[in-house]
Amino acid sequence: MGPPGAEPAGKPPWAVRLSGVSKVHGQGTGAVHALRDVSIDLPVGGFTAVMGPSGSGKSTFLHCAAGLDTPSSGTVHLGDVELSGLSEDKLAELRRERAGFVFQAFNLLSSLDVLGNITLPLRLAGKRADADWLREVVDRVGLTDRVDHRPAQLSGGQQQRVALARALVARPEVVFADEPTGALDSRTATDVLTLLRRVVDQTHQTVVMVTHDPVAASYADVVLFLVDGRIVDILPHPTVDTITRRMASAEES
Ligand code: ADP
Repeated sequence: MGPPGAEPAGKPPWAVRLSGVSKVHGQGTGAVHALRDVSIDLPVGGFTAVMGPSGSGKSTFLHCAAGLDTPSSGTVHLGDVELSGLSEDKLAELRRERAGFVFQAFNLLSSLDVLGNITLPLRLAGKRADADWLREVVDRVGLTDRVDHRPAQLSGGQQQRVALARALVARPEVVFADEPTGALDSRTATDVLTLLRRVVDQTHQTVVMVTHDPVAASYADVVLFLVDGRIVDILPHPTVDTITRRMASAEES
């Protein structure tokens, strides 16, 4: 044991650390600077929303943070692991072990039932789902009486809850969500956001979510605002009102 308050060796306080990350898509005259010198720590057990106008670099930020894309310069840590220099195989393994993903498109397999979809990533990783945890995750997303349904038999909100359960079942340290409520009506969006909030509050997992929606972002602990590939503002304790005002002033600037 170290002194009181010290972090145990090997466990940094950040779930994700970006240091001087820039990303250029394309080359020459067609080059687009999607991220410019972005440095930020996303703390363990925090819920971070990433906002900004279309084309400001939100998806690139998420993809670089999650090891789905490689920065042109700078470094990304997922927990204690630095991603640059890892082979594609190692990156894929790290993502499988540490990260869960929820996208606007639910990406469910239509031939598998709910349970089959939720456990697919584990099975692909050659692992078995812990039965108690699986039951708890399915229960938490409210799908216990739907486990043998196919995606086509579910509403959009239910399908997104399947995608969320699939992201959570391997107990990832970080859940990366790209517009997870973009295709949902407001009531089902509320369900999904409440679940993401619970993931942070009850199991101390970390959530990073890209969104356009001030209501969705208000579930986060902090909102990062991107403009033209840079973090231009960091809003702690966000409310719908403060987020909306910040967005309006960004549009004016
Ligand atoms: P956002 O998610 O905020 O809409 P993106 O990260 O998708 O922003 O894109 C940031 C900038 O990078 C945009 O100008 C976009 O056109 C460009 N971009 C994103 N991905 C690619 C790519 N694969 N090839 C070329 N340009 C890209």
